[in-house]
Amino acid sequence: MVKRYDAGLLSDYGGGNVEWWQDYLRAEIERCNDHWEADYAALETKVRRLEGENEGFVQWVNDLHSGMYINCVYCGHRYGPSKDTPVSMADVLKAHVEKCPKHPMSQLKAENEILKEELRKCREQK
Ligand SMILES: [Zn+2]
Repeated sequence: MVKRYDAGLLSDYGGGNVEWWQDYLRAEIERCNDHWEADYAALETKVRRLEGENEGFVQWVNDLHSGMYINCVYCGHRYGPSKDTPVSMADVLKAHVEKCPKHPMSQLKAENEILKEELRKCREQK
């Protein structure tokens, strides 16, 4: 959660002095910028740390899949072990899921094609 900037109680010492108000606003904008810069730097640090952790997890999954057979849970198609497959097992499985006739994605892709065709027909009727 991002901390909101709180300007606190605003001063009214400037009265009708425009230059005083301009300086006051510049100072307030500067404090606001400092607030957001600090918040942004903290978030940037956190993102870098999480990206590093994620790289480790991706490698971990690839290590777990290496030297193993992996099966599609929908059709049972088997890949592996890794010496038979040139890319990571996760990538092989992703490629299979896109083509697997028993995976729910196949049904969605078929429905999508039908809907696109219906849409094309509707547009032609206009
Ligand atoms: Zn499959």
